[in-house]
Amino acid sequence: MNERFTGVFTQQEPIPEEGIAAALAVLRHGRLHRYNTVAGEVAETALLEEEFAAFTGARYCLAVSSGGYAISTALRAVGVRPGDPVLTNAFTLAPVPGAIASLGAVPVFVEVTGGLTIDLDDLAAKAGQARVLLLSHMRGHICDMDRLMAICDAAGVKVIEDCAHTMGASWNGVASGRHGIAAAYSCQTYKHMNAGEGGLLVSDDEDLAARAVILSGSYMLYDRHRAAPSPAAFERVKYVTPNISGRMDNLRAAILRPQLRDLAVQVDRWNERYRTLEDGLRGTPGLTVIERPPAERFVGSSIQVLLMDWTPQRVAEVLRRCAERGVELKWFGEAEPRGFTSRYDSWRYAPAPPMPATDRVLAGLLDMRVPLTFSLDDCALIARIIRAEASAVYQSA
Ligand SMILES: *Cc1c(COP(=O)(O)O)cnc(C)c1O
Repeated sequence: MNERFTGVFTQQEPIPEEGIAAALAVLRHGRLHRYNTVAGEVAETALLEEEFAAFTGARYCLAVSSGGYAISTALRAVGVRPGDPVLTNAFTLAPVPGAIASLGAVPVFVEVTGGLTIDLDDLAAKAGQARVLLLSHMRGHICDMDRLMAICDAAGVKVIEDCAHTMGASWNGVASGRHGIAAAYSCQTYKHMNAGEGGLLVSDDEDLAARAVILSGSYMLYDRHRAAPSPAAFERVKYVTPNISGRMDNLRAAILRPQLRDLAVQVDRWNERYRTLEDGLRGTPGLTVIERPPAERFVGSSIQVLLMDWTPQRVAEVLRRCAERGVELKWFGEAEPRGFTSRYDSWRYAPAPPMPATDRVLAGLLDMRVPLTFSLDDCALIARIIRAEASAVYQSA
């Protein structure tokens, strides 16, 4: 009898009791809007911003309605205009090129390496084509940030980091999101803190942060923000910055604050699971585990492996056999986007010249979520199933 896995890949842990109690308190007083406070009260949203700024070490933080909104707000606040080219990863998730397109700007895709990070040689070659790089740390893989910043600084390219999968991660001891001029994080259910929806934007740049607060819809109530620049910065931008409402509310912030306090512990729990999966998969014939650089402190909330240069039929056969045993894998090489899109050629609103290196990586790239509801035994079982099925298909060739 073959072993089967019966867990659910989309099931997250419940909201911590402390978060439920805080949410109920907000529901009971009814002041859900972030600017609806009584005398002496500091809104949950403003407290979350203060705490997240402290967590990342950033001077300023703004809580917003989604990760995608945080990205588009950062792009606007940095001065991207309609028609401007914006460098970005060819391998990322749809909201990233989507945020660029939402400004009427144009994505310029950069190739991905076999380590699943942006190809720095291709970036160096293309750096002269744009003033801004929207760098996506896709699936939590962090490139050599020191070299990336040297390339971008030399070319006068400003870096905005998409940290949807690197909240709590770091490169060479510097928190992810603290290399560029601004960074965006997501708080939707499948990321590292779960408010259903939500986003956070951090920066040390005074004018950028002031513009972001006004863009998010602050109705000139920006003095209720705590992790925000001084009134003088707002004076400079307040009449020329449009309101594009996308605030976070106090209910979501109340749910998030206890999760932020627990984040370091959760990161360790993710990484135990990741290492169990990685150990179980390493050495499988024909399957490449992505080796993580020592400078990278990552968050193993998902895992990727490569079936490099396998035929599509054989990759599909591995997926089918794993699914039959309860293991749901995603395949970035699939011709048609299903359930999610992460292939540059499915974003047909954006120009996409041929990207042979990216095509080769995506054709063999398998991806799996690692929810914290999985035990270490679950992870070991999942690895045994993938190992057995990939080996069987590999040896049948
Ligand atoms: C989830 C995600 C986002 C955006 O998050 P939303 O909150 O869903 O808008 C951005 N980039 C990547 C890589 C993501 O996975």
